[in-house]
Amino acid sequence: MKIYKNIPLKKYNTFGLDYTAECLIHINTEKEASSLFNGSTDWKKPLLILGSGSNILFIDDFKGTILYPELEGIKIEEQKQNKESIIISAGAGVIWDDLVEWAVIKGFGGLENLSLIPGKVGATPVQNIGAYGVEIKDLIVKVKTINLNDGSMRIFTNEECEFGYRNSIFKNSEKSKYLVTRVYYRLAINPLVNLCYVSLKEEVNKLGKETLKNVRKAVIKIRRSKLPDPAIIGNAGSFFKNPVVKSSVAERIKKEYPDMPLFEDQEGYIKLASGWFIERCGWKGKRIGDVGVHEKQALVLVNYGKATGKEIFNLSQEIKKSVYEKFGVDLEREVEVIGII
Ligand SMILES: Cc1cc2nc3c(=O)[nH]c(=O)nc-3n(C[C@H](O)[C@H](O)[C@H](O)COP(=O)(O)OP(=O)(O)OC[C@H]3O[C@@H](n4cnc5c(N)ncnc54)[C@H](O)[C@@H]3O)c2cc1C
Repeated sequence: MKIYKNIPLKKYNTFGLDYTAECLIHINTEKEASSLFNGSTDWKKPLLILGSGSNILFIDDFKGTILYPELEGIKIEEQKQNKESIIISAGAGVIWDDLVEWAVIKGFGGLENLSLIPGKVGATPVQNIGAYGVEIKDLIVKVKTINLNDGSMRIFTNEECEFGYRNSIFKNSEKSKYLVTRVYYRLAINPLVNLCYVSLKEEVNKLGKETLKNVRKAVIKIRRSKLPDPAIIGNAGSFFKNPVVKSSVAERIKKEYPDMPLFEDQEGYIKLASGWFIERCGWKGKRIGDVGVHEKQALVLVNYGKATGKEIFNLSQEIKKSVYEKFGVDLEREVEVIGII
């Protein structure tokens, strides 16, 4: 365990924002996590748990304590559970894409469509990460946590995580109350690949057989061609969630804009594409000072170098306003804003 005071946060967030935190604690084991919160020390509040900071927007210096879990280790938990699946687990500090690569090399299926998503294992149940037709909620068996009120351990079953679209109990009623230490996933031993996304299927077929390795390669190729690399241009991926609206709302817009993409959701609801609205409002590729909307992906706001978190936040407000005025659709931020707005 290491405790840092007044530490720069630039390397702790993928927007590359240059704020500081009053206190930041690197945590390496469950025992350390537990002892930090057993009541013996009163840590400066608020508390913030940080993975790679790839879905976070700091808008100010952080005047509290940041918990930075670095728990390592990938384990096979139950190899012979049945002939079809296996349960594996990974520490919260494992880089997500390292786990995906490990699973693909071992021939365990399920994670490959989620290749190259930035961040760490600990955030995956919090965010219910998803891409190319796969959501991690369908693979998570349970989540091991430490209660930040008393240092006790608690396991959340899949049902108890209350997963939703980029959502879970850890973002709602239990927000900032539990530190995820280890996540358990069920993977397939004789996997069938999921190529429900036409663009992914086409890319895999160019590579040859429909194998886990080719799916991973194809996903990485598509993502690299479409999304800015945070190591080069600061960003946090999709800034907004795709809105889910009543069918009647989607029909109203579709009448006026027949080319608007839409996707079936639960009965009576339609999922719309935020990127399409943002592009239609003329934002794609726009740059104001050092903030901008990425030229290839309108959903991604970028820091070209010296932007502040407030400038990025203000741009997101402008975008929200213009989409609402033109289409009557309220975009919800996917990126979590840290600081007082
Ligand atoms: C280029 C780019 C592309 C992206 N593409 C995708 C994509 O395709 N699909 C997708 O779903 N997301 C995507 N994202 C968003 C992001 O990668 C995910 O949300 C990721 O899971 C965040 O992981 P993190 O470790 O960086 O978490 P952070 O951003 O540090 O934290 C996210 C949230 O999780 C909480 N948290 C983190 N670790 C823990 C823990 N151990 N215990 C409890 N709470 C914790 C934090 O407090 C915060 O609320 C993308 C981001 C970028 C930059």
